[in-house]
Amino acid sequence: MRGSKLSPSTIAVGAGRPSRTPGAPLNAPLTLATAYVPGDGPDYARQANPAWEPFEEVLGALEGGRALAFASGMGAITALLDLVPVGGTVVAPKHAYSGTLDALQQRAKRSMIQLRLVDVADTTGVLSAAEDASLVWLESPTNPLLETADVSAIAKVSARRGTAVAVDNTFATPLRQRPLELGADFVVHSASKLIGGHSDLLLGAVVTNQDRGYKAVEKRRTSGGATPGAMECWLATRGLRTLHVRLDRAEANATELAERLADLSGISGVRFPGWGTIVSFEVDAGPEAATRLTEKSDVIAHATSLGGVESTWERRRRHALEPKPVPKNLVRLSVGIEDVEDLWTDITRSLKAV
Ligand SMILES: *Cc1c(COP(=O)(O)O)cnc(C)c1O
Repeated sequence: MRGSKLSPSTIAVGAGRPSRTPGAPLNAPLTLATAYVPGDGPDYARQANPAWEPFEEVLGALEGGRALAFASGMGAITALLDLVPVGGTVVAPKHAYSGTLDALQQRAKRSMIQLRLVDVADTTGVLSAAEDASLVWLESPTNPLLETADVSAIAKVSARRGTAVAVDNTFATPLRQRPLELGADFVVHSASKLIGGHSDLLLGAVVTNQDRGYKAVEKRRTSGGATPGAMECWLATRGLRTLHVRLDRAEANATELAERLADLSGISGVRFPGWGTIVSFEVDAGPEAATRLTEKSDVIAHATSLGGVESTWERRRRHALEPKPVPKNLVRLSVGIEDVEDLWTDITRSLKAV
């Protein structure tokens, strides 16, 4: 799309569309093919699919880099982790998305990497652990404790040391945080969450503004095989078209609910970074009561995952892989775009029913 001065909302709506020639469709078509006519381009669908491109163009334009779509967030994350040299040190948050921590710990156990877990909010601590590291892995805000990292300060020192910095930007989306502009080398997304936005697809992405990094990740995608589905990319592109509108509404709801939850008796430890769509809190009556709370709601669905138009909540420690520092009575609420008063009534009524 012409004009680099366009705002993110306009990019979200307009990027990645076919050229405006007479008779051309406004939306890119789905390409369902495993093989292409041999020539200069790709000839097999694990290498490329034209249906990936609109999604990669929109997300790349929003993040300020070039995007590569993957079959899932974990597909994107493990493709990046595979680029760490054998025996290299990875510094990562001690609480983060459980799947990421599990992938890191599995690699450390097999001596593929050395793993140092840190408090991401402690910039000095991160930097001293990362002195000789190959990769600093950041998640900001973290899932589900909502800690934030000073990406810019960490990236600045890491660049001097030649340490790569990757940021899982799933909770922030490029509309709230653009890690590449802050100096990070790679951004990863679970597009299954806010980007897709409708809890109906599994997709991930890596975004980078470095040629070598892009080529290395693309190579990993082709050989690793975590290639995205054409339909998933098509749906995620449709999701991106409304990301700004959904995010504004869900964030306004989350801000209101976080404020009210902070004053609600029976609830404590409300975590909300002041932006975004996720609120975590603890239920004073304990873990069993927290589980019951999440099962009593009518409007809010009891379910895992996050970032859909519909509000969902769950007690995170019900998952065996969830890191132990996450309190057992912690509920993670993913705020959707419903009417905020209906959400509040649902929360207070459910709490009374526990
Ligand atoms: C869900 C999630 C992932 C994993 O993504 P999938 O699409 O489920 O593979 C990674 N990071 C964060 C922060 C997530 O919330």
